[in-house]
Amino acid sequence: PCTDFDLAYFKAYSHLGVHEEMLKDRVRTESYRNAIRQHQDFIAGKVVLDVGCGTGVLSIFCALAGARRVYAVEASDIAVQAADIVNENNLSDKIIVLHGRVEDVDIDEQVDVIISEWMGYILLYESMLASVIFARDKWLKPGGLILPSHATLYMAPITNPERYHDSIDFWQDVYGIKMSSMKSLAKQCAFIEPSVETITGESVLTWPCVVMQVDCYTIRVEELQSITANFEFSSMLQAPLHGFGFWFDVEFNGPMGIEANSDATVVLSTAPEDSPTHWQQTILYLFDPIELKKDQIIEGSVTLSQSIENARFLNIHIQYCCGGRSFVKQSTMR
Ligand code: SAH
Repeated sequence: PCTDFDLAYFKAYSHLGVHEEMLKDRVRTESYRNAIRQHQDFIAGKVVLDVGCGTGVLSIFCALAGARRVYAVEASDIAVQAADIVNENNLSDKIIVLHGRVEDVDIDEQVDVIISEWMGYILLYESMLASVIFARDKWLKPGGLILPSHATLYMAPITNPERYHDSIDFWQDVYGIKMSSMKSLAKQCAFIEPSVETITGESVLTWPCVVMQVDCYTIRVEELQSITANFEFSSMLQAPLHGFGFWFDVEFNGPMGIEANSDATVVLSTAPEDSPTHWQQTILYLFDPIELKKDQIIEGSVTLSQSIENARFLNIHIQYCCGGRSFVKQSTMR
């Protein structure tokens, strides 16, 4: 059923600005175009389903790659513009724009390819992957192609003295006035919610761990409700631990991961060491930094789960031990 939360979500996607931001993200959009070109031989002459077509950009890339027919499904009112854009490019004989939720539309044939740009912040925020799984189970032919095919979510301890300085140390001395009594409120305000921001590789204290691996060919919705991963990091530096950073990448492999030339697999990465994207990184800041020694171990577990109040919200729960003390960090992305 379509909830009020879904209506609010689709309303957000009826605005031009979000689509403009996604289209201007060249790393994102060109990765999709490269992947479509790489799988052109498979796509040519076939039927494609674009789950959440937005402006129709991916549908048009597929039509230009030779798809025989593309079903471009979009629940928000941007579908109206998508249909105009399809017309403007003389592709209305190939691309059929369906204005509705993929869960509700009628498509009376099976498809060879499903393409979708479903990834949210920290991969799972807004969890649109469930709609892709729904489409796969309903319409994808055996041996069909899903783009992207795989996703991996990473996590690593990070240090970010500038951020802490700007938000917290600031209150130490404001025009010569002591305002340190503001610090605990400042910590609450700055660090209660996950922060979407761009960090560089220099902020990352050690190799990331894998929180989750998604195989879009096989993953089931039940597996998305709650994900837990254990970690053990060894800090490569002596530095204050300010929080934990999350990022993801997606791969565009063929069915069964078989690739003519696997070196050529297109990967769209949102890691701090790679070119920035509109996803940036997601950071969970600790209220108080922990001074780490070089080679110090931080071990624990992280759980990502759908919020009960709104399935599109994401709860993040991290418990960790460090220097003989245990800590818990709990936060909701709304
Ligand atoms: N494919 C476009 C837009 C990606 S954003 C591009 O690459 O630029 C994801 C889009 O999916 C949004 O426009 C959103 O409204 C739509 N969407 C999300 N869930 C959907 C669902 N269940 N059915 C149809 N559209 C959906």
